[in-house]
Amino acid sequence: MKILVINCGSSSLKYQLIDMNGEEVLCKGLVERIGIEGSKIKHDTTGKERVIIEEPMANHKVALGLVLNALIDENHGAIKSMDEIGAVGHRVVHGGETFASSVIIDDEVMKVLDECIELAPLHNPPNITGIEACKELMPNTPMVAVFDTAFHQTMEADNYIYPIPYEYYEKYKIRRYGFHGTSHKYVSLRAAEILGKDIKDLNIVTCHLGNGSSVCAVQGGKSVDTSMGFTPLEGLAMGTRSGDIDPAIIPFIMDKENMSFEEVNNMLNKQSGVLGISGISSDFRDLEIAANEGNERAKLALDVFVNRVKKYVGAYVATMCRVDALVFTAGIGENSGSIREKVCEGLECLGINIDTELNNVRGEEAKLNKDSNSVNILVIPTNEELMIARDTLELVSK
Ligand code: ADP
Repeated sequence: MKILVINCGSSSLKYQLIDMNGEEVLCKGLVERIGIEGSKIKHDTTGKERVIIEEPMANHKVALGLVLNALIDENHGAIKSMDEIGAVGHRVVHGGETFASSVIIDDEVMKVLDECIELAPLHNPPNITGIEACKELMPNTPMVAVFDTAFHQTMEADNYIYPIPYEYYEKYKIRRYGFHGTSHKYVSLRAAEILGKDIKDLNIVTCHLGNGSSVCAVQGGKSVDTSMGFTPLEGLAMGTRSGDIDPAIIPFIMDKENMSFEEVNNMLNKQSGVLGISGISSDFRDLEIAANEGNERAKLALDVFVNRVKKYVGAYVATMCRVDALVFTAGIGENSGSIREKVCEGLECLGINIDTELNNVRGEEAKLNKDSNSVNILVIPTNEELMIARDTLELVSK
């Protein structure tokens, strides 16, 4: 079966068409600037040259229509007709407490998705818009929603309840949800495959380090704790997000700087993290160059980032009593040997010993531990699209 995977942002749309017979990517692409002047599609079909489609796209439905045309185009497409698409898998950021796994989308599911908007006002609406556009254009094709939060629904209450009055959980469902679940699930399953072990017998700490970053404790294939919380703002210091800070800082700064809720929210989400500390960039490539040239604040930003990752790794080893594997993934985790090395530095007491020679890899699967008695240290490029396609196939085949 061929499955179309869709990931809709507010003005963007990423897609992949995957032939599940061999899990081969047939086409992939990115639509940018939907609803804004200058909309375009970068469309890649495996084995063919990239095409750029520049056309006005007033909304997601228009964009998706052009994507579907590109998929069946005689010259730069990969299939003859839309009927070849057996199902569509949609990435949805927030599934609240209702969705502990992926689901086939029906009217009832759409209703619950609407209820989840409150929990992710920035992310869920474009996801829903994408589903609606797809339903209009492909009314007879089954569709599945795959949630970033679902993998973490296995967490126990002592890890998801915040120490604030319990009534806020009851009234507003304020609790830890966790994000990047599709990625943590994919890399933990892949780690078990690489190690030739049953996932049920493994304790794994997965570090998804990208623009947004989170760490997850995966015990026996289940998420038992993760660093992101009610929103993706909690946890590690990120590109532009603060991660954990003393909550008292917020009213203090609002008072001193006469800031509104919107402004402080923007500051914590868009102007903080390594960008906020360094004052240079949110991109780790820029920061590593600047730090090597002697920029102290760039160095400090990297040190704070590394420190936070180490603290979470330590905490999750303690949570699970034992760790069999430490996995690095996403932009930084897959590409930055120096960040991986610094994260592992000083964790020898936990059995984490990184081989600096083996660590000289980028963007490919690799095993980095010094010897077989140490904790397995793995680099595993994440593949959220494939995970979404697998879940979709499983559900529509039932
Ligand atoms: P997103 O969360 O947007 O999916 P990615 O997982 O693609 O992010 O990660 C993007 C980040 O990865 C970039 O901002 C950059 O900081 C980092 N990155 C990518 N390549 C490298 C590299 N070679 N060295 C260090 N950092 C890198």
